[in-house]
Amino acid sequence: MGIEKDTVEVAPGVRQIPDTPVFISPVDYLINWARTGSLWPITFGLACCAIEMMATGASHHDLDRFGIIFRASPRQADVLIVAGTVTKKMAPIVRRVYDQMPEPRYVIAMGSCACTGGVFRTYSVVQGCDEFLPVDIYIPGCPPRPEALMYGLRRLQEKIRREVGRWGSWR
Ligand code: SF4
Repeated sequence: MGIEKDTVEVAPGVRQIPDTPVFISPVDYLINWARTGSLWPITFGLACCAIEMMATGASHHDLDRFGIIFRASPRQADVLIVAGTVTKKMAPIVRRVYDQMPEPRYVIAMGSCACTGGVFRTYSVVQGCDEFLPVDIYIPGCPPRPEALMYGLRRLQEKIRREVGRWGSWR
């Protein structure tokens, strides 16, 4: 007796009891699968990179087909794409938007400015948004093309697929 012996794997992470409609899968797998198919970034841009972010969501690149739909409220969003230069004046506002998002939430630093401050080695620019946010994915470029943002979002989906136990309040 054993789950490996009595079931067959029909998809990665999903097993079936042969000749029955019964499928077995860890809760982590199901929740991560649902999350990866419904990433909702907040509509929030800071500088030129935001134009590329908008282009990624528009019809030519069409993020909707991945279930990635921009939302206008942080209360409904689970991804913060930091798209543009973060000035020291703006950083507390970006952080407030992040704080208003429910868990689990993810951060993508889009472009050289968000990753490292980019060309702006000045007193007024934050030298990387990871100084005040927990960044999950970094996308280099000035600006990164929509394809690069799509690649970053796909990498975020891969990261979410590997999460364990990020759904129980007791953990
Ligand atoms: S990385 Fe380049 S394109 Fe993006 S916000 Fe900075 S200067 Fe603009």
